[in-house]
Amino acid sequence: MIIRPKIRGFICTTAHPVGCSQQVQTQIDYVKKCPPIAPGPKKALVIGASTGYGLSSRVVAAFGCRAATIGIFFERPSENKRTATAGWYNAIAFEKKARAEGLYAKSFNADAFCDEIKERVAEAVRKDLGQLDLIIYSVASPRRVHPKTGSVDKSVLKPIGASYTNKSLDFDTNRVVQVSLPAATEEEVHQTVSVMGGEDWEMWMDSLDRGDLIAEGALSVAYSYVGPEVTYPVYRGGTIGKAKDHLEQTARKLTERLKKKNAKALISINKALVTQSSSAIPFIPLYFVILRKVMKQKGLDEDCIQQMVRLFSSRLYAKSEIPVDSHGRIRIDDLEVRPDVQEEVMRLWEIVTTENLPEIADLKGYREDFLKLFGFGFPEVDYNQDVDPDLQLS
Ligand code: NAD
Repeated sequence: MIIRPKIRGFICTTAHPVGCSQQVQTQIDYVKKCPPIAPGPKKALVIGASTGYGLSSRVVAAFGCRAATIGIFFERPSENKRTATAGWYNAIAFEKKARAEGLYAKSFNADAFCDEIKERVAEAVRKDLGQLDLIIYSVASPRRVHPKTGSVDKSVLKPIGASYTNKSLDFDTNRVVQVSLPAATEEEVHQTVSVMGGEDWEMWMDSLDRGDLIAEGALSVAYSYVGPEVTYPVYRGGTIGKAKDHLEQTARKLTERLKKKNAKALISINKALVTQSSSAIPFIPLYFVILRKVMKQKGLDEDCIQQMVRLFSSRLYAKSEIPVDSHGRIRIDDLEVRPDVQEEVMRLWEIVTTENLPEIADLKGYREDFLKLFGFGFPEVDYNQDVDPDLQLS
């Protein structure tokens, strides 16, 4: 089958297996060029391991630290000539490449929110690894079936208190448009906190702790975002921000609980990046194309794998105490929030229009990064070759 990108709005409905494998390889190659991270984790669990920050975390743990990894994700295999999701191909490529180097790699394609998978993973950890010294929580999901109540909670991206209007990027037309979002209802806030807050992370940690599967001195890390003033009403001050506040409170609660093991639950605030989840957030892609241009000009731009290498090498496994901000959070978004970067981004945000967008924002780079998420646009791959879309996890 010849596979081409089919883009609908902020999603690409096809993915290329060879291209996805190449994107995993590119990340591995980068990690291998960096100084080894030692001592790093030896046995890691990554929840949300198939794309974005979770995939890169798994690549760094395995190829930068030689850790055994278990990955959980929720992806769709191919069926009836329809390609699988990119995360499915990424995970298969990861496993294959890790095992080829003698690294333990096991994956579960399942809903992380349900109780059954927590039990199955606990069993695999007990049987194969004994205890975990790193647990990464990197799930980004639009919905959650609550394991105790059965309610189907949906995460929405809305401001709280009042509606919000600002500039946004229309993907289909490459135009700068005005977008208005109505204020969220209390129920919407509640459901977003259920999906993207810390409850599920806590359930995972409790399940692992009950089975005595967390090693002495282990680290658990969940990812969060703060962002600039222009996205504040819809991000940090909005429904998703409430969920992130909850995630951050959960870190403090879990650290308290894990003291007996000298283990810690941490939050890492990561940089805004093109991932499947972030592309869906109104205003963020426009902010991102401007940010990317400014950071590139200043020589500060980083992608997912570069962020994760820095998180591991200069924060989590640095020789000194882990540096945190006044709220106790790791800041790997430090370059994004630098005052000179933000001042320039805000100056450009004020003047950006459809006409000047190609000059003042990195629209081309954004498109390229977006396509790469689905395995398209790698010069190493011949996209005219017939490929088998039907790959299986082993
Ligand atoms: P992503 O969409 O690339 O990855 C999400 C992962 O979660 C995938 O592996 C997916 O399979 C998995 N997943 C989704 N639903 C699941 C379910 N029900 N069960 C099991 N796995 C499930 O997302 P991302 O952008 O890498 O985000 C990961 C985390 O990083 C999120 O907490 C996000 O808020 C945070 N973050 C993202 C950015 C950004 O700009 N992308 C910035 C800072 C922080």
